[in-house]
Amino acid sequence: MDIESYLIDLDGVLYVGKEPVPGAARLLEMLEEKGYNYRFVSNSTRRQRSSVARRLSEMGFSIPEERIFTPSLAAVERMRREGRKRCYLLTTGDVECDFLGSGITLSDQNVDYVVMGDAGAEMTFERLNAALRLILDGAGLLALERDRYWQEEGGLVLSTGPFVAALEYATGIEADLVGKPSPGFFRMALDDMGAAPEKTAMIGDDVITDVGGAQALGMFGILVRTGKFRPDLVASASVRPDMMIDSIADLAGYLK
Ligand SMILES: [Mg+2]
Repeated sequence: MDIESYLIDLDGVLYVGKEPVPGAARLLEMLEEKGYNYRFVSNSTRRQRSSVARRLSEMGFSIPEERIFTPSLAAVERMRREGRKRCYLLTTGDVECDFLGSGITLSDQNVDYVVMGDAGAEMTFERLNAALRLILDGAGLLALERDRYWQEEGGLVLSTGPFVAALEYATGIEADLVGKPSPGFFRMALDDMGAAPEKTAMIGDDVITDVGGAQALGMFGILVRTGKFRPDLVASASVRPDMMIDSIADLAGYLK
């Protein structure tokens, strides 16, 4: 394959739960040594970009935060472009810092957007109901991601998608997706490294979000058998990965 650049998913590819995937850090060193371009595209919405970088460094990955793309950055960029300044943020963790640091006001009144990410146990009835009322009052709905689930140490966990679907059902409006697999999100990272999609491979553990999203833009889609990978889900998916490898460490055999 004639690949010059890589987009790499984080959760389920570089690490699973709190454990780094064996050989992943070495593989990143090889990409660096061999002069490949690479960026990280994560659908993680629980941490601001700098916290994502810090956590990766604690797991032994030294990745400059400028190379990490998260849906909250895409949402902030979208609001900046549109001149919108107020949103109701339905997330958890410190991801709000990405918004506050960009001059966006977080409020539960008179907002331009309801922005939904993975709020874990904080996805309460009260907060969903507040979002419902804001949308019915005219706010738009931005979904940071709409994955069905993700893999935690103990098993699969509900992600943002099911809750976005609930609000869409209740309000009759359709959410705008800003994270993977939206083309604009992949393009942010591609443009940042000046890469052409047809010479770029995306590596992820989600056959729909990572592989399908990448293929839709003309990228090469590589599925790893780590993280949320389940053989039966891949067999029944409409997407066919261009390549499947046991883990990102196995990419070493395909580098120039
Ligand atoms: Mg993943």
